[in-house]
Amino acid sequence: MSLLLCASAMAQEIDPGGKGGSFDRYADQLERGEVVITTHADALRDLEKLKSEIPPGDARRELRYRYMYCIMGIADDPSAGKAYAEQGLEDARRVGYADAEVNFHFCRGANQESLTTPRDALADYNAGIEIARAEENNRLVADGLTWRGSVQSLLGEHALALVDFLDAQKFYDSAGEPLESEQNLFNIAVAYRRLGERKEARDYLERLMKFGIQRKDLPQQMAAHMELGFLGVESGPEALPSARRHFDEALQIAEMVGNTAAQASAHLGLAQVDNLGGDYTGALAELGKAEAGLKVTGDRSNGDMIALQEGEAHAGLGEHEQAIADFDRSEAFLRKSGNLRYYADLLQQRSRSYEALGKTTLALADLKQMIKVHQALDRKARSYTTTLMSYQFDTARREQENRRLAADRQLKEAQLASLEKVRRWQWAALVMGGLLIALLLWQARRQVRAARSLHRMAMTDPLTGIANRRRIEALGQPMLDEAIKRDEPMAVVVLDVDHFKQINDACGHQAGDVVLQRIVDTCRGMLRHGDQIGRVGGEEFVVLLPNTDVHAAREVAERLRECVRMLDLGDVVSAASGTSISLGVTTRREGDRELAELIVRADEALYRAKSSGRNRVEVAGQGEVPMTIVGGDAVHISTRMHPARR
Ligand code: GH3
Ligand code: MG
Ligand code: MG
Repeated sequence: MSLLLCASAMAQEIDPGGKGGSFDRYADQLERGEVVITTHADALRDLEKLKSEIPPGDARRELRYRYMYCIMGIADDPSAGKAYAEQGLEDARRVGYADAEVNFHFCRGANQESLTTPRDALADYNAGIEIARAEENNRLVADGLTWRGSVQSLLGEHALALVDFLDAQKFYDSAGEPLESEQNLFNIAVAYRRLGERKEARDYLERLMKFGIQRKDLPQQMAAHMELGFLGVESGPEALPSARRHFDEALQIAEMVGNTAAQASAHLGLAQVDNLGGDYTGALAELGKAEAGLKVTGDRSNGDMIALQEGEAHAGLGEHEQAIADFDRSEAFLRKSGNLRYYADLLQQRSRSYEALGKTTLALADLKQMIKVHQALDRKARSYTTTLMSYQFDTARREQENRRLAADRQLKEAQLASLEKVRRWQWAALVMGGLLIALLLWQARRQVRAARSLHRMAMTDPLTGIANRRRIEALGQPMLDEAIKRDEPMAVVVLDVDHFKQINDACGHQAGDVVLQRIVDTCRGMLRHGDQIGRVGGEEFVVLLPNTDVHAAREVAERLRECVRMLDLGDVVSAASGTSISLGVTTRREGDRELAELIVRADEALYRAKSSGRNRVEVAGQGEVPMTIVGGDAVHISTRMHPARR
């Protein structure tokens, strides 16, 4: 005889949220990167599936689909993307759907960047951030800061970029999003490098490389190699071999993952190494490859960098007429993007070529212009310091910043004083600096996101959306290490649904699935920020409670038990007594080193809870004394029949 009766509604409708519910779940998964997307075709397929879930006449969900399509689906046609975003903006405003409005702003900005110049995207990013702030949607604010920070980087506003990235980082840290964090740490590394903080940049990059290797995340390794290449190039002639190695590695990975844009960027990097090493013919060959690749991707944003490198190579080969033509081309681009540092270096370089051709008036004009640009750069550097200081950097940080500025100024004075003595690698290193990696970042971002989805997918339980066993282990061990380090308590709770098999047997597997989802939703609602819950088996879950002693942990477990007991599952199953869970609790003890030790103990306590009646909490090490006295488990008669666990 079955103890459970199925509600009649069950036969027709399992999904409690109706069609909209499954749309929301799927959209959440896509947005959080929990669905594996490796190619654009993947994205289109997933979006198509999402579209089919929009309930008819549901304007908000339709808009949500549309902004996701705008950001994920429109890959190669920026003018179409912009038009699409504008229509979306209009509709979102009409419906009064602020999150959609924010996302359409971001989408229009992204397309605008490719259409004209990054600077033109700022208005949209700012508008989006402002609305997201008003809505107190921190995730959207952080996303917006990341978009805007990337543009600030491209514009040479590295301090502003750093502040945006650090702000976004605060959110990602507080939300416990290690992957978003890693991506952002990369941004921070780039900003530090561009501010001349090579040591800090290298530290971040090496950490990221380690993460990338640990997670077998090829795009992240590729991006880190590329950045380390640029660091090498900036670090003087003795670092050139290492720079070449990194660019070669990046190229190999880019080929492996079929990322044409990144291949082109690696060729540009190699061209730079060749130029610095005096192999101008080699540089031109690399530039040819870079140009061919960028033609394929239709990217027009690197015209300036290619032209600059070509100018350098031609000047090196003594072909100064050609070099000047290259520099002129580069200048046309650079003036538009407003990047002063590159512009100053271009002027310096071109003046040398003019001088070589005996055109001293033109050479002098470029030098004069260059001095002006350097003065503007100096003013900017001072405002960087102010920006960073206002961000409450500590005293040491400020002193370091001042030292750096003083060193920068000295370097520039030396450059101006003895122009011809400046070694070629110095200026070229400055020139190449940020723009290439910004480009790479921009294009690698899609790839990095795809890898992130893969990773998330592997870490998430698809039924309930919470952490799976792997993720809970990955979260729990560092949590334990931290607790040991700080000498704080930490608790682990293992819980298992009672007589779950009977629900499946009586009402079917789908009803069982819904019950699991409801139980998870209930438990999640009870936990603090910072607590973690994961599904480690069919109907078995682990809860990690940082900084929680045994009394508090038992209270939490009791609360979970009670709430599940009170759960109204009438629309799914109807049972005389409802559903219950049994829980085993343990806390960190002296000598515990591995999370597994705590899980085993909690598991043993759970076993006791099962065998002494279910619907109860047992604390490890207090086995003989029942910690919870609850009313009899009247319906579940066979209390001593708990099947052998594992
Ligand atoms: P006990 O109180 O002793 O834990 O009894 P129980 O019936 O819950 O335990 P048992 O281990 O005998 O059965 C667990 C059942 O959970 C068996 C399995 O078919 C079911 N199950 C495992 N994973 C899922 C799932 O993803 N969905 C559904 N609906 N059922 C699942
Ligand atoms: Mg069970
Ligand atoms: Mg079980």
